[in-house]
Amino acid sequence: MDATRRLIDMGFTPARRKSPAGKYKPHLSLMFKAGEREVTFGIDTTRLSRNDDQYFLITHAHTDHYGKSAMLSEKSIASDKTALALELRHDQYFKGMRFKVGDTIDVEGVKVKTYNTYHSIGSTAFFWENELGVKILVTGDIKDYRDLPKCDLLITEATYGNPDDGGCIFQDDYASFEAALQHDSVGFGAYAFGKAQRAVSLIREMGVDRPIEMDKSSLTLTRHLLGDDAGEIGKLGEFGGGLCITSPWSLGRLPVSMKKYVLTGQHFYDQPCICISDHIDFNGLSAMVDKLDPGLVIVYHPEVGNSQHFSKFLNNNGRDSCTLPEISASRQTTL
Ligand SMILES: [Zn+2]
Repeated sequence: MDATRRLIDMGFTPARRKSPAGKYKPHLSLMFKAGEREVTFGIDTTRLSRNDDQYFLITHAHTDHYGKSAMLSEKSIASDKTALALELRHDQYFKGMRFKVGDTIDVEGVKVKTYNTYHSIGSTAFFWENELGVKILVTGDIKDYRDLPKCDLLITEATYGNPDDGGCIFQDDYASFEAALQHDSVGFGAYAFGKAQRAVSLIREMGVDRPIEMDKSSLTLTRHLLGDDAGEIGKLGEFGGGLCITSPWSLGRLPVSMKKYVLTGQHFYDQPCICISDHIDFNGLSAMVDKLDPGLVIVYHPEVGNSQHFSKFLNNNGRDSCTLPEISASRQTTL
């Protein structure tokens, strides 16, 4: 059955925004009844327009999951740590509603439960029921699905969703990471938000208490988001250059004598890489869908590419699934 029809039968009317050039924005909004009212939840968000009358469920603070302008809306909803990360990244006050991951929040009478997805600090899945009793779960990006509840409609990611791509099947290589930490002088390439904090947390969990030098934005984010759990951290050069974390693209600026590795699940770097990912792999995604057992899966991220591969895999295995372009090609309302 047509995906849009299926959603409407479940009590959700999908809406996508078009740019002035007529191109769809990469996010999805859902309208549904809550008592007498019609409520609209935007899944993550793109740029706001002046007459927006919807709430934005911001799953986490990676730039492909929120629009900067969403920080200016009182109807944006994000965890306290996601809001803080957005404020640090944009030097701007987050005007929306904040909650602690694990809280149940009330949005126009709709009880929305929140769950940790362990993808980045503050990353959140949102779960609620509409008037028909249909349970919907929006995951954003996921590293671990252990806390997530069963649902009827699942809206999820598939960054590593291609079963035919060997690069989509991996396990984090903690042993290589731990071995690399034995070098007197070693630098790791990690994105400032997310991976850098994961790296610091892993280093401390491994019992390594050496001071860690970090580039400016990684240091600011890590200080605020990890607090005392980060141990001794400082700016590049502050402790003599023994153990450093900096962005992957500035790794080459560290001293030539230093051992260097990019911490990533991706395969497009020239530098030696150690597989430490913020996502689950294809096998994890597949096991997650089996556990959550939804009647319909919308794979919303990335907009094209591996989401299509994963959706097709689900269809081939007897599950109803679609991607955003299939919804945009169907009957719908645009905001
Ligand atoms: Zn992300």
